[in-house]
Amino acid sequence: MAKKVAMVTGGAQGIGEAIVRRLSADGFAVAVADLNEVKSKEVADDIEKNGGSAMAVKVDVSDRDGFFAAVQEVADKLGSFDVLVNNAGLGPTTPIDTITPELFDKVYHINVAGDIWGIQAAVEQFKKQGNGGKIINATSQAGVVGNPNLALYSSTKFAVRGLTQVAARDLAEENITVNAYAPGIVKTPMMFDIAHEVGKNAGKDDEWGMQTFAKDIALKRLSEPEDVAAAVAFLAGPDSNYITGQTIEVDGGMQFH
Ligand code: NAD
Repeated sequence: MAKKVAMVTGGAQGIGEAIVRRLSADGFAVAVADLNEVKSKEVADDIEKNGGSAMAVKVDVSDRDGFFAAVQEVADKLGSFDVLVNNAGLGPTTPIDTITPELFDKVYHINVAGDIWGIQAAVEQFKKQGNGGKIINATSQAGVVGNPNLALYSSTKFAVRGLTQVAARDLAEENITVNAYAPGIVKTPMMFDIAHEVGKNAGKDDEWGMQTFAKDIALKRLSEPEDVAAAVAFLAGPDSNYITGQTIEVDGGMQFH
């Protein structure tokens, strides 16, 4: 049987890389879609070396035409298009008084508009194929509860949760499900950068910055990217067919509400 095809944006490192590797292990042909061509190719080559089917595709998710072209390239090369994981995102630390119009545009174009362009491009393919599909968006624990010093990031991730609910309703008739995952504190390059800032501001090191986050986690450990990938694999697979419009919080118990 032909493999189902999943495209993961921001797939070259961090959570996205863990997702492409997990989906490949689960039997998907995967497209590693990222701005970083070199790293995307390394990940795709490594998956192929280990017996999976993978390709790298360059995409800037904030470029609508480019996103459509990338999705078409994946469908052409891998023969189908079944799952889009809108994972790419920027996570700048921004106290509210530091947000400039330029930074606002940049972060909203990637974190919010990028998801909308991705949904549009994926839906075009799903409709051509006529058998539905799955869209999975990255939000954050910061998109569930307002986080200090993350005004810009937090607001984009609240937007993604809203978008997920609306798109789930709008696309249900086409047998397309739309869900989201909300990671907590995951050991990725993005989080190491944030930990560096937090540590520096307190006159301490990066590890101290990272461990300050752990005290809010019920399970008392930081998340591995693979913890998040496991939840995404559930949302990408058939066991979640009757779930849509939901956000799964994969945060080790940071917030209960
Ligand atoms: P990361 O910064 O480590 O990796 C992001 C990847 O996205 C990189 O490979 C980068 O090249 C790519 N990328 C950036 N801009 C892009 C663009 N315009 N087009 C295509 N690719 C682009 O990030 P991560 O920590 O793995 O986070 C992945 C997602 O999970 C993000 O949406 C992030 O907001 C969310 N998230 C992360 C955490 C965490 O603790 N790390 C927590 C909550 C939510």
